[in-house]
Amino acid sequence: MNAGLEFRSWLITEEVKTRPHVFFDMDETLVAIMEVGWMKEDPANSNFNPLTRPGESPFPDVVLVKFEDRKLHVFPRPGLREFLEQVNKFADIHILSHAKPEKIKNIIKALKLTDLLPMSELHSTRKLSPNALQKKYNLGDDWIMVDNLWPTTAEMVNKMRILGLNFPNKSPKEEGELISNIGKGKFVNVKEYRAEVAENYDYELYRALGEIKKKLGLPL
Ligand SMILES: [Mg+2]
Repeated sequence: MNAGLEFRSWLITEEVKTRPHVFFDMDETLVAIMEVGWMKEDPANSNFNPLTRPGESPFPDVVLVKFEDRKLHVFPRPGLREFLEQVNKFADIHILSHAKPEKIKNIIKALKLTDLLPMSELHSTRKLSPNALQKKYNLGDDWIMVDNLWPTTAEMVNKMRILGLNFPNKSPKEEGELISNIGKGKFVNVKEYRAEVAENYDYELYRALGEIKKKLGLPL
């Protein structure tokens, strides 16, 4: 092989190897979820609330999702699609949620995000053991978890263990503290998203974008 070809194939290998991974929580991170029955206009008509009409102000992007016997109104965080497109330029993106697998799938489909987040990239902690995603994606130090919770919570320790941070020889408390500490460097927190009437004032995802790049060691 000549030197030019060799160099090019090295470049291709490096490119494949160095594309990092960003895992997103779903509920309260990318979307807010409400059951319309909570806010019904009239007890006799639990399917209707004038505030949550798809296509109309103040929540034109809201979608109605059926899951089990529930009707969920799903509010995407403002700028969600554009934000995911931005991250997808420099990282492979995935969902890691505590929600049931079917719920995650239904929501991502209803939001028409399957081109960015195909079914194979939607992960439920309910189906995963420690290290499961570390093995699946061969994760090293090249990943970030974005979540509305903090790395010191039990939920985050659970997710971090799935992503490869675990110390089985430690006691559960020691392991949790160690994971929380290391996890701070692997973790980007976003403020919990609730469907706010002044929804356009939420810039959390764009603030997070800079932090994601910084923690991955990428230029801003
Ligand atoms: Mg959440």
